[in-house]
Amino acid sequence: MCIFCKIVNGEIPSYKVYEDDDILAFLDISQVTKGHTIVIPKKHVTNILDTDKETYLKVVDKVYDLANKIAKNLNASGVNILHNANEVAGQSVNHLHFHIIPRYSKDDSIKISFEDSEKQDMDQVLKQIKGE
Ligand code: AMP
Ligand code: ZN
Repeated sequence: MCIFCKIVNGEIPSYKVYEDDDILAFLDISQVTKGHTIVIPKKHVTNILDTDKETYLKVVDKVYDLANKIAKNLNASGVNILHNANEVAGQSVNHLHFHIIPRYSKDDSIKISFEDSEKQDMDQVLKQIKGE
């Protein structure tokens, strides 16, 4: 059984931020920033690339509410919402989850950077995405 399923069934303790029949939100053990929260469906599914849309949208709906609540009540200036899908994208726990990471300063311990890599043929990329 995966570590988040163990949190759902109470085998592993957690600091619960929110719970209903389908969703659980709890403080991330690593607290990248104060209030860093994980939101999951109670049902074990893997990630956006391998999940029914209904389950995914239920989680996203709650992420919206909780991100706003957390940012407001912790006086955050902003928030990052992160969903890693598969190992190549940094997913280490294979149970669908969103990170809500409140931001208080640009100089905190989270760094997100987008750097140019190889040039792409944009027309070709569009064709591929559209399946043409
Ligand atoms: P990811 O790298 O996107 O798969 O994120 C997994 C997250 O789960 C990491 O940020 C971990 O700190 C967090 N995590 C792992 N185990 C626990 C736990 N027992 N309680 C709370 N958070 C956890
Ligand atoms: Zn699981």
